[in-house]
Amino acid sequence: MNPGARIVVLGKQGAGKGTQAVRLSRHYVVPHVATGDTFRAAVRAGSEFGRAARRYLDAGELVPDEIVIGVVRERLTKDDTTHRGFILDGFPRTVPQAEALMDMVAPRALDVVLNLEIATTEVLSRLASRRVCTDCGANYSVADNPPRVPGICDVCGGDVVQRDDDTEAAIRRRLELYERETAPLIEWFDKKGLLATVSGTGSPDEVTERLVAEVNRRKQRALSG
Ligand code: ADP
Repeated sequence: MNPGARIVVLGKQGAGKGTQAVRLSRHYVVPHVATGDTFRAAVRAGSEFGRAARRYLDAGELVPDEIVIGVVRERLTKDDTTHRGFILDGFPRTVPQAEALMDMVAPRALDVVLNLEIATTEVLSRLASRRVCTDCGANYSVADNPPRVPGICDVCGGDVVQRDDDTEAAIRRRLELYERETAPLIEWFDKKGLLATVSGTGSPDEVTERLVAEVNRRKQRALSG
């Protein structure tokens, strides 16, 4: 299978988007574009942009569409993404963002929109034990996948911490916004023939295997079609 891919990963908080997006980006050798990571990095850097973003993130609110769209548009016009592709994680999250994305990538199509499906009861326990690398965005779980050295990322040596927005109130708000703003995108992409729903339960390796099989099937179909 040729390297390169143009993939969107959809799924509610805790579905495993981040974990799987990192793996897909290594598998297809394409940049992992995660809007949440971009905003958290800006917050840490303390830039004016980061200070503006912080109040949305900490409350679990969505950053306004025009801001997110501007950030993603800038990233998707860089050489690496235009040549090789991208794994988009956390974008789009609203219909206006999805419309903007289709406009940005045109005239080329996306390979597939992967919808990682998981029960809400399962995501709540995953989020409580979730820890994340502040440098590379790698995800860990204190319950069943801790970093080898506590607090230190296995991948890049960065700090592994609990996210400021993994509080009960912010999680509740993010799941509410997922249902209201993001879940409608499942049907939206399905109507365009781009959607593939894949079960997010099981071990991370099992889920990756399912996702790669689905992506390869789509890429194969596009080549022969
Ligand atoms: P999660 O999927 O667990 O909520 P992310 O890291 O993807 O985590 O996003 C964290 C926060 O960043 C969101 O709650 C929101 O404030 C902001 N954010 C990220 N992506 C978007 C987006 N596409 N549109 C609006 N806000 C976003």
